[in-house]
Amino acid sequence: MSTTKYTLLFVCLSAILLSACQTTPNPTENQATVQNQRPAYALAIHGGAGTLSRANMSPEKENAYRAALDSALLIGETILKNGGTSLDAVTQTIVFLEDCPLFNAGRGAVFNHDGKNELDASIMEGSGQMAGAVGSVSTVKNPILLARAVMEKSSHVLLTGLGAEQFAREQGIETVDAKWFYTQERWNSLQEAMEEEKQAGKTGAIDAPPTDYKFGTVGCVALDHAGNLAAGTSTGGMTNKRWNRLGDSPIIGAGTYASNDACAVSCTGHGEFFIRYAVAHDVWAMMAYKGLSVAEAGDAVVNKKLVEKGGEGGLIAVDKNGNIALPFNSEGMYRGYAKPGERKVLIYKE
Ligand code: ASP
Repeated sequence: MSTTKYTLLFVCLSAILLSACQTTPNPTENQATVQNQRPAYALAIHGGAGTLSRANMSPEKENAYRAALDSALLIGETILKNGGTSLDAVTQTIVFLEDCPLFNAGRGAVFNHDGKNELDASIMEGSGQMAGAVGSVSTVKNPILLARAVMEKSSHVLLTGLGAEQFAREQGIETVDAKWFYTQERWNSLQEAMEEEKQAGKTGAIDAPPTDYKFGTVGCVALDHAGNLAAGTSTGGMTNKRWNRLGDSPIIGAGTYASNDACAVSCTGHGEFFIRYAVAHDVWAMMAYKGLSVAEAGDAVVNKKLVEKGGEGGLIAVDKNGNIALPFNSEGMYRGYAKPGERKVLIYKE
């Protein structure tokens, strides 16, 4: 090739490169646009769904629930406001709710048929879709911390029973005496459930939960400044449960799910239904495959699919742009959300 040809080729290539640089949008600007569209953070929590009616709630009790939910939101919000991750916000918010005896998780967990507390929890992050979960643990003070350790410090997703307890000890996770979990109210609920069962001549094998069931599981979903989503759920399960029964809460895809491409979800309700209909994942799937909004997907799953099948409960979900949905098909659901400049706690259909 002659020098003239080389010069021509060089000029052409430079022109192509230059025009490419001018027409390709600046990726940093692009990202800024997306970030401008979504809030700096978004957070939602639940404290369980069920038969929660104004008529059955004393003002003192209602105030206690509202205050606890507000404090939980504040914990998560402070982490997110200060640039913390959604994973930390979810973890610490749930730790607070587990330590609060008002909720059916950690301290305040319901009793199983043998008068013991068996705790389940799970956590998932949306960027790498890593997840950890524990089932039927009975000495771990904060099962969500153990679930997170399973995610970060083991090559597994779900550990249960004695093995999970052993892993907790190896990881230096705080364990407590069984009486830490005891509350008189939950104990009374067990006595009532057993009496109801006896009166009806039931065996517990295929029975529905008592008619005035209050679920009480806790959960949190969050979106952080970096656009990462996370979800977590923690529970004592269902009163009077038998045979090491696990509900949806420790099952990734049923009670908990997170993926940065769409949403983060945490569920509460009659777990068997949430497992069978893969509820948390179904919300994600409706958004990812059908292009539904988080509100549409949540409504379709909770108020249509679950209702048709007889599955009671609700969920909280946040999408990648910070939109929040809190659908439930029960009488009420302890819930709340926070975004910059907004913080709200709700219980009934209000
Ligand atoms: N989903 C939980 C379970 O079935 C119960 C609840 O949400 O209260 O174990």
